[in-house]
Amino acid sequence: METLYYSPMLLGVALLLAVAISSTALWHVSRPYAGPVLWMAGSWTLIAGILVFFGYIATGSPVLNVLGNAGQLAGEALFLIGIFHFMGRTLPWWIVPASVGVMVAFNIHYWVVAGSSDFLTGVYSTIAGLLPLQAIWLLFKSREDPATRPAQLLVGCSLLLYSGVVLLRGFYGYHDWWYDKPYVHPVESFSYLLPYNFGIPALLMGFFGVTLMTMQRILAMSRVHQMRAEYLATRDDLTLLLNRRAFRTVAARDLARAQRAQHSLCMAMIDLDHFKRINDNYGHSFGDEALRHFAECWQSQLRETDVLARYGGEEFVLLLPDTAANEAQVLLERARLALADTALEVNAQLVKVTVSAGVTLAMPGDTIDSLLSRADEALYQAKDAGRNRVQVWAPSA
Ligand code: GH3
Ligand code: MG
Ligand code: MG
Repeated sequence: METLYYSPMLLGVALLLAVAISSTALWHVSRPYAGPVLWMAGSWTLIAGILVFFGYIATGSPVLNVLGNAGQLAGEALFLIGIFHFMGRTLPWWIVPASVGVMVAFNIHYWVVAGSSDFLTGVYSTIAGLLPLQAIWLLFKSREDPATRPAQLLVGCSLLLYSGVVLLRGFYGYHDWWYDKPYVHPVESFSYLLPYNFGIPALLMGFFGVTLMTMQRILAMSRVHQMRAEYLATRDDLTLLLNRRAFRTVAARDLARAQRAQHSLCMAMIDLDHFKRINDNYGHSFGDEALRHFAECWQSQLRETDVLARYGGEEFVLLLPDTAANEAQVLLERARLALADTALEVNAQLVKVTVSAGVTLAMPGDTIDSLLSRADEALYQAKDAGRNRVQVWAPSA
């Protein structure tokens, strides 16, 4: 017991226990994400395997030897499978039964023929050292997730270090078996303590890496969610055009910019013609389809800097930066005709949707509201004049 206390084995186990507890916490805080549950399961299985193996050292029971070795390998394999799971790859489940099976076979052989414990250690270390290679390869070569790439490399390097240490340990095992070295108790053997002195710190680094990887993914996902929420808050959910509030923000900025630079800017208001009748004749959902059709058709006629928005109901607004009144009229006419030229099908009938539009040029001292009210005035004139037309606001009208 005292030798164990003064050996790095106890410290190693205590550190692994700390990893197991921390991995449980990691699993708890990151539950929707794949991977941490396997890291948790792997760490606890590894710890259980080591404790059983300590039981073997204390009692010499061959059953505990077999179970201890098998548990440690299973734990390591589970941890590695967690990496595949986290990275969205197919899980190499077979590495658990394969590595455990090979180890158990050698273990039983050793037990039955009273073979060399050095050779058995060599076999164990070879399996434990080669196991991570698949995961290391994946960690180094996969570039699909730039957000977690730095942590991915840290995990890859940690596992590589771990593999190196364990394989070196295996080399010593084969060497001592080949040269028939005298038995040294595990707690006093230099090579036996290699994994405790250097392998476990490498595993700690690897665990820190997977924690970082998980946190980086959570951060990246929350940024995506935030962008989605921002998008939805500014959009009209039927047409996906900007909504009234978002339009006013963008328009205020563009108007201020145009006034400062003394550039021309136009504002238009567009209203679907006889839309009540369309709803009444063909149903509300066809009305919705017509609204979407309008949005798509007009949007395709505009430049990137033009801002088309749904102002409410079947009323739309259009802001045209760097556009003179005559240019605006040409653009609106083109869009009006494009819409009037296409028909929508409903109940084996072709229905055409038309719009009326009023447009006005910004004048010094204009605000969004003064622009909108003149555009609205022009729109009423277009409606009065018979609909399906564009009207430019004129002061005398
Ligand atoms: P005008 O040519 O004079 O503009 O006639 P109108 O029938 O289009 O005018 P009015 O403003 O009386 O009718 C607008 C209709 O638009 C009434 C309303 O039910 C309908 N409407 C508003 N929003 C929606 C919507 O989101 N979906 C559908 N299907 N209909 C809508
Ligand atoms: Mg209307
Ligand atoms: Mg209306």
